[in-house]
Amino acid sequence: MKKRIRYTFDGTVQGVGFRPFVFRVASGLGLTGFVQNTPAGVVAEVEGPPDKAEGFLAHIRGSLPPLAVLHDVRAREVDPLDDTAFSIRHSLASGVPDVPIPPDTATCEACRGELFDPADRRFRYPFINCTDCGPRLTIVSRIPYDRPNTSMAGFALCADCRREYEDPRDRRFHAEPNACPVCGPRLELRDAGGRAVETADPLAEAVEALARGKIVAVKSLGGFHLCADAASDAALKTLRLRKFREEKPFAIMAAGIETARRLACTCPDEEELLCSPQRPIVLVRRKNDAEISCEVAPGMPRLGIMLPATPLHHLLLEHFSALVMTSANKKDEPICIDNREAVERLRGTADLFLMHDRDILVRCDDSIAVFAGNAPRILRRARGFVPAAVRLDSEYPEVIALGPHLKSTVCIVRGRHAYLSSHIGDMETPLARDFLHESIERLQHITACSPRAAACDLHPGYYATRAAGENATRVQHHHAHIVSCMAENRAAGPVIGLAMDGTGFGPDGCIWGGEFLIAGYTGCRRAGHIRYFPLPGGEQAVREPWRIAASLLKHAFGNSWQGYAERLRLADRDEMLQHIDMMIERGINCPQTSSLGRLFDGMASLLGIRSHVGFEGQAAMELEGRAAAARGPVLPYSIQESDGLLLDTGPLVRDIVEKRCAGADIACLAASFHATLCDAFAEAAERLRSLHSISRVALSGGCFQNVVLLEGCINALEQRGFEVLTHRLVPANDGGIALGQAVIAAAQLRDGEDVDLPPLEKDAAHHGG
Ligand code: ZN
Ligand code: ZN
Ligand code: FE
Repeated sequence: MKKRIRYTFDGTVQGVGFRPFVFRVASGLGLTGFVQNTPAGVVAEVEGPPDKAEGFLAHIRGSLPPLAVLHDVRAREVDPLDDTAFSIRHSLASGVPDVPIPPDTATCEACRGELFDPADRRFRYPFINCTDCGPRLTIVSRIPYDRPNTSMAGFALCADCRREYEDPRDRRFHAEPNACPVCGPRLELRDAGGRAVETADPLAEAVEALARGKIVAVKSLGGFHLCADAASDAALKTLRLRKFREEKPFAIMAAGIETARRLACTCPDEEELLCSPQRPIVLVRRKNDAEISCEVAPGMPRLGIMLPATPLHHLLLEHFSALVMTSANKKDEPICIDNREAVERLRGTADLFLMHDRDILVRCDDSIAVFAGNAPRILRRARGFVPAAVRLDSEYPEVIALGPHLKSTVCIVRGRHAYLSSHIGDMETPLARDFLHESIERLQHITACSPRAAACDLHPGYYATRAAGENATRVQHHHAHIVSCMAENRAAGPVIGLAMDGTGFGPDGCIWGGEFLIAGYTGCRRAGHIRYFPLPGGEQAVREPWRIAASLLKHAFGNSWQGYAERLRLADRDEMLQHIDMMIERGINCPQTSSLGRLFDGMASLLGIRSHVGFEGQAAMELEGRAAAARGPVLPYSIQESDGLLLDTGPLVRDIVEKRCAGADIACLAASFHATLCDAFAEAAERLRSLHSISRVALSGGCFQNVVLLEGCINALEQRGFEVLTHRLVPANDGGIALGQAVIAAAQLRDGEDVDLPPLEKDAAHHGG
């Protein structure tokens, strides 16, 4: 008696070695049948003794290839066909699979072993890869993901490579970028002017230059990196000077996990994240005696560390314990990918170019992650994660969202999937704007989808808003934040949304950023916010937090504020304080804001931590760093209820300033500031729960990159019995906005507006009467 079962596998199962894996499992069990890629996922039919055919699934689940993810498996019995063997069938070309291209993946252990094995034919070959690892998205020009549609098309497989490529039992069966020293890409070296350097060993020359303190542009997976010895002050000073980057921290690549442990206090979860096949930059708490240059991340409590992601990185890092690896670009411009483009754009920045002839076709920056509140959190979603889909709670019509202005990404929603582009960056330069359009085209292409409905931000002046056109659905920034969090958690609304953020355009023309929302997929109401405070000088206040500090003091102490400002030495000259006073009194260039990000900046200045910033988030990160190392009690605050909740931080500012003037420890005050906010947010949520009977809270917005704030809020809310939704797969910062925009527009298209919100108080009374 034979039994035949048809299994349909849904998830990340294409281009990850899943079919040969199925082949090996089925053949091993003595089953016949076939496996095939289809638009609906991978289909396998297995036939044999009933126990074997039924036990097949357990074997599959028990030993999945490292990159495969199973979302859903359907099984149904079909009539036996009495085939004689198990085979891998050609892909069904019609239609489009849900996940057509896998993300790029770090060199696997098997390949790394071969890389350093003198007996292997790929010994020290910088482009070694297999079905479990190597470039994917970044070498693709067209779908489907087959070798002729990648930048490997020009490299004809040699006989040895072809044999591997065609053998289902081989680790390199259908590894599209398969290559070896005989038939594959090669390294080359160019000098600062882009002229080819004659050398038998480009790698050795580059290593030698790095050791001499030179800056080398290295072609990596998703773009060029600028590399320098992380131990060399002189090299990093030069790099900062040439990149016009004064203080912003550099990420480093550590040779291995042991080196990472020497540089930072890593916990096992962080080490797992560092070693994951996505190889993100992980933000880890630095050790005080870490043996790297102080130029790497001046003043930062955390270091951004990643481990080698490509064979070339492994070979480079043989000679250094850590290298600075920073995206090769100028400020606010996208990362370089093309050889000629790199030479042109990096002229004067790089001393040497270590490049090769395998083209990068899709720009993809390094991803950034942090481990917080018992889970890994992605802060920048790019290499290793893109273009994997985010799964949604239900089926949505096709919509494309063009994202916000800073940390931009774009997103397409279709069916149960959301496809987020990789990090595009700030829309501040023409090249960044070109990259936005490039990303839109690329995303439409790889998802084979060209949505007619678009979504964008509410801000009329944003570049992406204008690009989206008149008919696009305009979505308020913080509604988008909260829905991005709901969407990745596949959670139904309504929720209490705590959107804690830097900047978002409010419909009242103010700068929002400390919002208590009642939010659903189709609608959103503002149920309260942090009390507005003026930002003297607008944008200038963002760069000069002492201006915000002055504004907070004036609100907290009224007319006597300048006395405190002088005691705290807020400004270099008294006239500056008078000038600020006058600006606020007369409302000259003083936009009103509820931004928690700005409150953090102001508090950092009040505590003497930083009064001018060199990059976004610098003051807040240093404030967090102080708080992380200390404990402090919850201090007073007030929540007023009038037209919604108003969280007044005046009492908190007053208390902290008086304590500081009395000589209290700054780290304890920083901790108290965090603890008080967490308590206040939980208290606000509790009031909203009693008003609206909602006990699910979503946390989103750039401030939740702050680990102390995130963990404190989760604790405070869970202690009060709330269900707390947080970000993991999608950034809490503006990198997640496009997902929220797309889901909101798609849900409104499908269901209408405001259908998943509770009625307003007055509506309820009205309808009741
Ligand atoms: Zn491999
Ligand atoms: Zn070969
Ligand atoms: Fe935001």
